[in-house]
Amino acid sequence: MDLFSSVEELPGIGPKTTETLKKYGIRTVKDFFYNLPRDYENYEAPTSIAELRPGKVVVKGRIDSLSTRRAKSKNLAITEGVIRDPSGAIKVIWFNQGYRAKQFSSEKEYLFTGTYELRNGRYSLLSPSAVAATEVDPSSGLAPIYAAHGSLKSNDFKRLMEKSRGLFNEIPDMLPFIEPTTRAKALFAAHFPSSTSEITEAREYLAYEELFELILASRLNRRENDKLKAMPIGFDATKIREFVGKLPFRLTNAQRRAAWEIFQDMEKDVPMNRLLQGDVGSGKTMVAAMSAYEAFLSNVQSAILAPTAILANQHFDGISKILKPLGVKVALLTGATKQKDELKKKIKSGEIDLAIGTHALLTDDTEFLKLGLVVIDEQHRFGVEQRQKIILKSPSGLAPHLLAMTATPIPRSLQLTVFGDLDMSILNEMPAGRKAISTTILAEVDSKERLYPKMREILSSKPDTKRHGPKSHGQQIYWICKAIEDPKNTSEETKLEITSVKKRCARLREVFPDKCIEFLHGKMKPAEKDAVMERFSEGEIDVLVSTTVVEVGVDVPNATLIVIENAESYGLAQLHQLRGRVGRGASAAYCYLLTSGDMKPTRRLQELARSNDGFHLAEVDLKLRGPGEIYGALQHGALDLRIATLSDTKLITKAQKGVEEFLQNPEDMLRYKELMSGISKYQQITTLN
Ligand code: ADP
Ligand code: MG
Repeated sequence: MDLFSSVEELPGIGPKTTETLKKYGIRTVKDFFYNLPRDYENYEAPTSIAELRPGKVVVKGRIDSLSTRRAKSKNLAITEGVIRDPSGAIKVIWFNQGYRAKQFSSEKEYLFTGTYELRNGRYSLLSPSAVAATEVDPSSGLAPIYAAHGSLKSNDFKRLMEKSRGLFNEIPDMLPFIEPTTRAKALFAAHFPSSTSEITEAREYLAYEELFELILASRLNRRENDKLKAMPIGFDATKIREFVGKLPFRLTNAQRRAAWEIFQDMEKDVPMNRLLQGDVGSGKTMVAAMSAYEAFLSNVQSAILAPTAILANQHFDGISKILKPLGVKVALLTGATKQKDELKKKIKSGEIDLAIGTHALLTDDTEFLKLGLVVIDEQHRFGVEQRQKIILKSPSGLAPHLLAMTATPIPRSLQLTVFGDLDMSILNEMPAGRKAISTTILAEVDSKERLYPKMREILSSKPDTKRHGPKSHGQQIYWICKAIEDPKNTSEETKLEITSVKKRCARLREVFPDKCIEFLHGKMKPAEKDAVMERFSEGEIDVLVSTTVVEVGVDVPNATLIVIENAESYGLAQLHQLRGRVGRGASAAYCYLLTSGDMKPTRRLQELARSNDGFHLAEVDLKLRGPGEIYGALQHGALDLRIATLSDTKLITKAQKGVEEFLQNPEDMLRYKELMSGISKYQQITTLN
């Protein structure tokens, strides 16, 4: 059997079905077999109707007298009927499932599972799922449920799978060493399980396969990287010591260690491929600046890429202050930069030593003379192509050293798998004097009594002594507006967000008439945004009402309170990031998480209130939501694991061992063609060079 031929080769699949399947990414025979059930219905041990007790039940019987009617007051279609077995009869009811009226043949027996409960004074079986008794494995009572794909419903997949039943034993194994089962058996058991333990085993096998691919991909990426050549950048101990001595603060030990790891990488003629992880406020920028200085000392250019203009500006301001006096020529290139062409000429001629910018740095006409170091801040905000673009900007044929930075901590299991090809440096220590941000969960309805007084207190507190803007009167506040949940509906979403920002701003102006309250949202022109941000950072604006555009990296130490509306709709990592906007100065800092209406706080919010440790929160987030949620969207859906959970460290360790053995034997790569072609999609996810 050829797993890579079209699904159309399979029995029962014609051109029309092929078309539909294609739309859902099921193109090949392999895709079809790997389209695993979403869940299983368990029809084990039906109860006879005479013996039914209220609660979740399974009933086996025939059905008749089905009819659908509209409920009077509500927009509701009610389908009712009678289920009989030899011992008796019960009423069955479905809501808004009109097709049920036509689903059943009175000749056939069906299995129903649903809740048997009191409704309108009478016990009925409510909204049961149903399957023909002949479709259920009589020994196990298990029936797979497939996700519907367009016109193809779960039952259609069952029917098609049934037709291919005989083909499973022809499926070859993909991996070399694996016991105790085979892929053919695992896939068969997933589609035709004869017990729940068989399902568990099958899924574990398939998860292993997936992890194996993922780990192998990252190991091979690493090999590829090691084949590239880079410009070695020597370590100048004297100059670096001088540099550190001039800083207005002491570097943390973590910063020292990270810088040391980076310098050692940069000395090599293989490009550095390192990810610097550090919680918000841990001082990653300084480490980047030191690395750029080191590059400057070796006479090569550096680029720092930031996801937003605000952030690029801030990096430019902060880094210029430190590096300009040392003779480094620093330039800022964003969409708003005037006389771009002139600046690009200077970058190309090598006159500029360090270019800091946004996507504007990525355009084809931005060229470097000798680009030796690339820093990507908030790396997950960039796609693979963008990261590759900046790396290819060195015409020398040598790859630049690459330092990616992220404030979204990466749980250990992901480090071992998805990010296995990167070297890691971790800033696990905060600069001295930082205090934990005190976090309070508050129902929105209570804000008047509890939140407004706190805001008043903050706005009249003495400005933070550390680098507050020249104009600040009191301390400042961020107010993050309602997140709109449906991310697909982008244009509507932004419209709604803008309305909610403006409304909130107007409302707060009423509450605090003597304060300067302004708003910020993503649809404003970059220049407008920068102007507002500038005024906030100068202390002219007291309360900044904003969408999550302030999320990344913005540093205003005099802002000591952040209010996050609609907090339940954000992920843990994002909330932690947002919260990190405050607590950057010497004063105590606060975060208020407002939940809509009087909703009970979710587990996520409770964890956030309890902990200020981004690494801990990332682990929790991974457990609560799974990696797809956290990294999947960010990585453009590429990390679309079917079954494996990246929190399964035991299986990860096992797969790592398997990969290790596999790599010992170079001929394997030629022999296991399917495996090698399968991993290319994963290789794209993290590969940096
Ligand atoms: P992040 O890791 O979130 O990017 P930043 O680099 O923006 O953090 O640093 C946050 C703030 O801490 C900045 O104002 C920076 O100047 C300051 N900072 C960095 N390192 C230190 C240090 N060792 N001691 C005190 N303050 C520091
Ligand atoms: Mg930062």
